[in-house]
Amino acid sequence: MPQRIGFVGLGIMGRGMAANLLKAGYDVAVYNRTRAKAEELAGLGAEVAGTPAQAARGRDVVITMLADPPAINEVVLGPGGVIEGLEQGSILIDCSTVDPATSAALREAAQAKGARFLDSPVAGSKEAAAKGELILMVGGDEPTLNEVRPILEVMSNKIIHAGPSGSGTMVKLCFNLVGSHMMAALVEAFVLGTKAGLRPEVILEAVMSGALAARFYEWKGGCILDRDFSTNFSIRLMHKDLSLMMSAGYSLGTPLPVTAVVKELYSMAEGHGESEQDFCSLVRVLEDLAGVEVRRTPPSPAQTSPEAR
Ligand code: NAP
Repeated sequence: MPQRIGFVGLGIMGRGMAANLLKAGYDVAVYNRTRAKAEELAGLGAEVAGTPAQAARGRDVVITMLADPPAINEVVLGPGGVIEGLEQGSILIDCSTVDPATSAALREAAQAKGARFLDSPVAGSKEAAAKGELILMVGGDEPTLNEVRPILEVMSNKIIHAGPSGSGTMVKLCFNLVGSHMMAALVEAFVLGTKAGLRPEVILEAVMSGALAARFYEWKGGCILDRDFSTNFSIRLMHKDLSLMMSAGYSLGTPLPVTAVVKELYSMAEGHGESEQDFCSLVRVLEDLAGVEVRRTPPSPAQTSPEAR
């Protein structure tokens, strides 16, 4: 059973994932560009590596959780990167959300070192990462997946075997296509209703009362009503994912007309200064354009009087 793990990328998601592996008793070497984040895990028993290659050397399994394809090119495929230290017979698991071409480049680079590769992007956010309750969408062969299943189960309570190598990445892009659109729909509805003089919590109550109900709306709708834009998943990363979806659509000859518009909305949010805020801060762009603010409001006396009911 693989026991020695290298973990590279300790951002919002990677930190919780690596911490759970350490708490489960695995021997984990960690690397992060900003070293202070790696040193925080030394208290849980992590060995802090000076380079990504060092985090991979002598490890049975190496897990990467990086921002985007450029970060993968630098930290995994670049000089001093993970691939340099990857051992023959080991397994590289990339949990970052990237494009199919990047997943294919990782698989080829791992194979050239005599290692195997799984793409395993995740769904669920900061809290799910900290609780070990992520959804994993895995691309690759089943025997390799089964070999690392005990490790993945420390980070996840739902493992979906999406298909051959690259399938996990493609499922994740489709998954975030839905999530990015749901957020756009929610914030448009909130801003329109607020402009019309509605209390936005009434809109959320209506959505949550029938077939449209989704935990996503309840969670993110609540954050917007409470003006809590603290970051679980940033505008920057959702904009990146929408760009990856558009490139996938282009290479597969598949029009994505709604996604194209939604992508530009997230681009506007970046221009608006929201890059590092949670992706529910998308609402601020439309609020500015409409001249309203969406927030929880107590019912007015007119709305609670017997005649109003
Ligand atoms: P994050 O907090 O921004 O962390 C990104 C990580 O990548 C950090 O370790 C960062 O290092 C590193 N990095 C970025 N650019 C780099 C570069 N050029 N060279 C070296 N290291 C670099 O992101 P996150 O929210 O944890 O997300 C990680 C991945 O999971 C992304 O692909 C994201 O799309 C995906 N994801 C996120 C969520 C979520 O809710 N947050 C949910 C599902 C999937 P530093 O610490 O030095 O900046």
